[in-house]
Amino acid sequence: MRILIADDDAVSRRLFERILTQSGYEVLSVADGRSALDALMQKDGPRMALLDWMMPGLDGPEVCRQLRERQDASYVYITLLTSRHDRTDVIQGLEAGADDYLIKPCNPEELKARLRTGLRILTLEDKLVEAREEMRQRATHDTLTGLFNRGAILTHLTAEIARCRREGKPLSLLMCDVDHFKQVNDLHGHLVGDQVLRQTSVRLRQAARPYDGVGRYGGEEFVIVLGGCDADNLQIRAEQILETIRSTPFETSSGPLHITLSAGAFTMDSLEWGGDVEFLLGRADTALYRAKMDGRDCARFAEHLSTNDGESIGLPTVS
Ligand code: GH3
Ligand code: MG
Ligand code: MG
Repeated sequence: MRILIADDDAVSRRLFERILTQSGYEVLSVADGRSALDALMQKDGPRMALLDWMMPGLDGPEVCRQLRERQDASYVYITLLTSRHDRTDVIQGLEAGADDYLIKPCNPEELKARLRTGLRILTLEDKLVEAREEMRQRATHDTLTGLFNRGAILTHLTAEIARCRREGKPLSLLMCDVDHFKQVNDLHGHLVGDQVLRQTSVRLRQAARPYDGVGRYGGEEFVIVLGGCDADNLQIRAEQILETIRSTPFETSSGPLHITLSAGAFTMDSLEWGGDVEFLLGRADTALYRAKMDGRDCARFAEHLSTNDGESIGLPTVS
């Protein structure tokens, strides 16, 4: 564990350095409050600090106060060092955000014991953060494939519609469905079906750009949101995506399987900013239906109709 020591008195700084190094800490020491704050503010900075109360520039409590104003940063366990005995000082220090205080000169064993309390608190905090991240992951990701789940991809699509509208950029959507997937289950069993879904997800994620949203929309249906992608590019991207699925057989526990996808595609350009999530999904879904009707393993594109073109809404033509 790395620990920061901030003390303007070189003798006491060296003393703390020796005690803490012997106890296995990796010690970083500075002589003033500003340097202490800079070191603690850094990404991956020390997570424990021993701060002298009185220092040139910023004093210990002020370093605490400024550090505690940060959001979304790992917790730093702070112990203030004071030679004062006045109770009001102690209250002031704790209210500034310190976790503990020690009165100088301090007993090395007491110092080590108190820092062990800090370590326990940091370990607890790490576990809490880990549990929170796991819950966030479970709430937004599909457990079988690790892709965005239906809720998360729709949230992503909603945000992308707003962003592209604000920036005047096109937005494309691809709805993909595995062809004859029921036969995979029926002939090879559900476990093989699951293997196919997992590999489909990996290939879709690889074929998409890092900033494209890829989600499992339903059983064997996937949605890809391509922010900033216009209709011409969508044609190219859709064909690339279908090719990554069809080109190499899927390795399964039943042997290699040839899998294909059908895709419905739609681009909303700046003329059509009236459309919402349902509008886009409806267009892509109708185009997907046409791809299935046209024999599968192909992409079909819903036409670019203005939302002002009342008669056309809900009945998109598909090319
Ligand atoms: P089409 O080419 O028209 O899309 O035909 P299809 O057989 O792919 O479509 P259909 O909708 O008839 O069948 C989809 C099947 O996907 C039915 C369902 O049991 C299966 N399925 C849905 N979710 C899962 C899953 O998580 N794992 C597995 N193994 N199968 C699933
Ligand atoms: Mg299918
Ligand atoms: Mg389906």
